[in-house]
Amino acid sequence: MSQRKITVTAALPYANGPVHLGHLAGAYLPADFYVRWRRLRGDDVIFICGSDEHGVPITIRARKEGISPQELVDRNHALIRDTFDRFGISFDHYGRTSDPLHHETASEMFSDLLQKGAFTEEVTEQFYDEEAGQFLADRYIIGTCPVCANPNAYGDQCEKCGSTLSPQELKEPRSALSGNPPVLRPTKNWYLPLDRLQNEFLNQYINSRDNWKTNVLGQCRSWLNEGLRPRAMTRDLDWGVKVPVAGEDGKVLYVWFEAPIGYISITRRLKPANWQEYWTGDAELIHFIGKDNIVFHCIIFPAMLHLYDHGFVVPKQVPANEFLNLEGDKISTSRNWAVWLHEYMDELPGKEDELRYVLGSILPETKDSEFTWKDWQTRINSELVGILGNFVNRVLVLSGKFTDKRVPDMPGFAPESGSPVAEIWKETDQAVLAAWREMNAHIEAFRFRDALAAMMQIARLGNRFLAATEPWKMKDDYRTRAWVLDRGLQICACLQLAAEVFLPATAARLSDQLNYKPDAATRKQYWKNGLEWPLLPAGHELGEAGLLFRQVEDEVVEQQVKKLQSMISTHSAEMPEETAAAFPPALKDTIQYDDFAKLDIRVVKVLTAEAVPKADKLLKLTLDTGMGERTVLSGIAQHFKPEEVAGKTVLWLGNLAPRKMRGIESEGMILMAEDAQGRLHFVQPAGDAEPGSTVS
Ligand SMILES: [Zn+2]
Repeated sequence: MSQRKITVTAALPYANGPVHLGHLAGAYLPADFYVRWRRLRGDDVIFICGSDEHGVPITIRARKEGISPQELVDRNHALIRDTFDRFGISFDHYGRTSDPLHHETASEMFSDLLQKGAFTEEVTEQFYDEEAGQFLADRYIIGTCPVCANPNAYGDQCEKCGSTLSPQELKEPRSALSGNPPVLRPTKNWYLPLDRLQNEFLNQYINSRDNWKTNVLGQCRSWLNEGLRPRAMTRDLDWGVKVPVAGEDGKVLYVWFEAPIGYISITRRLKPANWQEYWTGDAELIHFIGKDNIVFHCIIFPAMLHLYDHGFVVPKQVPANEFLNLEGDKISTSRNWAVWLHEYMDELPGKEDELRYVLGSILPETKDSEFTWKDWQTRINSELVGILGNFVNRVLVLSGKFTDKRVPDMPGFAPESGSPVAEIWKETDQAVLAAWREMNAHIEAFRFRDALAAMMQIARLGNRFLAATEPWKMKDDYRTRAWVLDRGLQICACLQLAAEVFLPATAARLSDQLNYKPDAATRKQYWKNGLEWPLLPAGHELGEAGLLFRQVEDEVVEQQVKKLQSMISTHSAEMPEETAAAFPPALKDTIQYDDFAKLDIRVVKVLTAEAVPKADKLLKLTLDTGMGERTVLSGIAQHFKPEEVAGKTVLWLGNLAPRKMRGIESEGMILMAEDAQGRLHFVQPAGDAEPGSTVS
């Protein structure tokens, strides 16, 4: 009987730039933990990823740099692939969508769907550059912003005022290619009838995913509740997978149509002979992605696979993560507010596992989380060095001193039943075995933060066992001392096994230090059926003790924070990534009027605004509420200077329960609007509403 095949994918990184920590925490690191665990259990799993190399942003970036799109993606593909490799993300194959085999696979699927009548055809009017002889993507149209009169707004967005635009709204539009005014021309494109597919397939598909994460299901249901609309699967563009229809030159497949097919074409590269087995029958398909890609993986791609109808499985799990923030702000590639992975590895060589541990501990699994350099240092120093590294080192050094660098060989010896040492071990033993089982269960349920915490718990239990038994003080009772060290060594071996999932470089060092190299069958046994002592046999010769981790000094943190702040650009000059799914965010669950009526929102005037000592995000505002003054602490200090806030008339949620921060009581909160770039805007009444006016 052949084994069930498991196909794990991680989001295809977009080849217009390098990878940062937010990407890692969103998809690649949890996927790598999961796949390593599956391999250790002896499962037939493949780990698929590759560069997504098509789409308008690539062509724009290439134009800006004066190179061809192919040169741009060649450079970025190599950088991304090598960075993942150095960081220990263990893809079975890292491919790319400019691969001819990908073009062939995507074309075949499109042609097949076209033949089946799966698409609808629609003719729309699009801007066309007569001199350049091509249709213009929204980004290639420049004109005057109807909102702020910026003369260089793009067809999809004004970067000066942040307004989302459509090309028809621009005044005096011109082509970015020739500078000439574009003309409207009819063009035909093919649409996926998602409205029809919603009733035919998607409602039932999403509603039967009851083991999906709530953040993922919530977003899917809100898309379905709003009602899906047909979506164009082709574009008028010359960079991408050509539309395989005779006479339709100058059109390519929509990137979100063909990029997920990359998972299939990359599997074909990896397993030319039997790739179908990983996509059909009882194969399991699992997509690791960030929350901005949910709609494409949970709605559009399953709908495509359903229509394709060649026995392909649809995604079984899509454990999408929320976003990772950085030092109090959203990560922004356009503002360069990001920690780039290749720079991390260049500047902090040998600290890959440290980053895996810290990010693994703060993965945004259920809500957004935050990376700070200070927290990175604290977790390394107090947990990796202080707990894990310290425990292993103590056991190995003591074994070198007292047991001749071997696992003690004392057949039949055990401390007297009921003695303190025996009792402490009994407790430790049960707790270690329980932590091991929990770690397994957490990984299976995609709760990697908890799983990593369970591994650290095993090290903590080991430390407590040593502290409670104090083997270094057992001068006369050398047999009990050796017995205690034996237990310590077994826990070290257990940590070596666990580290193989999360911290591969540490696992290799532990393996050397313990001289512990269990075979695949033994590992599989432990991961599938639980640990069984002893892991290290009596008399086993140990390797050389050494430090697993080193303390991080304050100056390293200071350097990184300083670098981050010096790199940030104040205006976004670059193309935003496709944010359709992430912005505007989907509507929250429906509420009744009564829920709204509970909110007491008033017009207020900000009398004074001042910084709050030791709180770099907060401003202290004094408000004229029309019924006396109130104090509010508002988390807007990184967006506005105090003098920009004083004097403003704004909206205030007055009946929010008071909250004390930094010793100051905050009474209610100021309402703010947040745009796609994470910028905040005051919500202000038009005209001159008096303080105290109510909002309803
Ligand atoms: Zn504007």
